[in-house]
Amino acid sequence: MAKHSTLFEVVLNWLFPPHCVACNKAGYWLCPSCIDQVIFFEPPWPSLMDDPWPLQGVRSAARLGGPLREAIHCFKYKGLRALAGTLGEILYDCWEAEPWPVDVIVPVPLHPQRLRERGYNQSTLLARELARHTALPVAEHALRRITPTPPQVGLNAAQRAENVRNAFRCMDDSLSGLSILLVDDVLTTGATLRACAQALQQGHVHAVWGLTLAHE
Ligand SMILES: [Zn+2]
Repeated sequence: MAKHSTLFEVVLNWLFPPHCVACNKAGYWLCPSCIDQVIFFEPPWPSLMDDPWPLQGVRSAARLGGPLREAIHCFKYKGLRALAGTLGEILYDCWEAEPWPVDVIVPVPLHPQRLRERGYNQSTLLARELARHTALPVAEHALRRITPTPPQVGLNAAQRAENVRNAFRCMDDSLSGLSILLVDDVLTTGATLRACAQALQQGHVHAVWGLTLAHE
């Protein structure tokens, strides 16, 4: 369980005692032996995109598979926000191994309609956890998803790029000149991170890096 639990979390844990989403072990949302099965990336970081442009660099904490796939699925689609702490620690470990010189964290946004349906943006929850560990600020509303892009599942790289082209807009003039860390849950082709970085460039940011929890 998280070291610094809020009263809300204490009550939630009492009402819904944690159990591992992958193996059902009590006391954890993702238990240590399931975390042991996760394939973490480490330096030298594998190249996850042929050319990360316009990002300066991109990396993911782990390969999407096994217990981590199950955890991300529950985190995104089953309302299990309580996983944010554990998944945020995994993200932070990857960040801390080799931090980039950034000023502010920006989560990849959901379209407002999907945000209403889901009730939360999983990338924002991850960004907040990373901010808690790093003391970096989060600009939660810096980017806006202006077109309700359909899910990327089943599309090839070119289709994914087309799907998200111009889907984002930078809403925050105060990011001008700053270096940005984009945070998302899963990296597939990188089309979403690229589209976000392009929108941020139109907001005249200095540089953009991308960090995701998992790479598919
Ligand atoms: Zn487990």
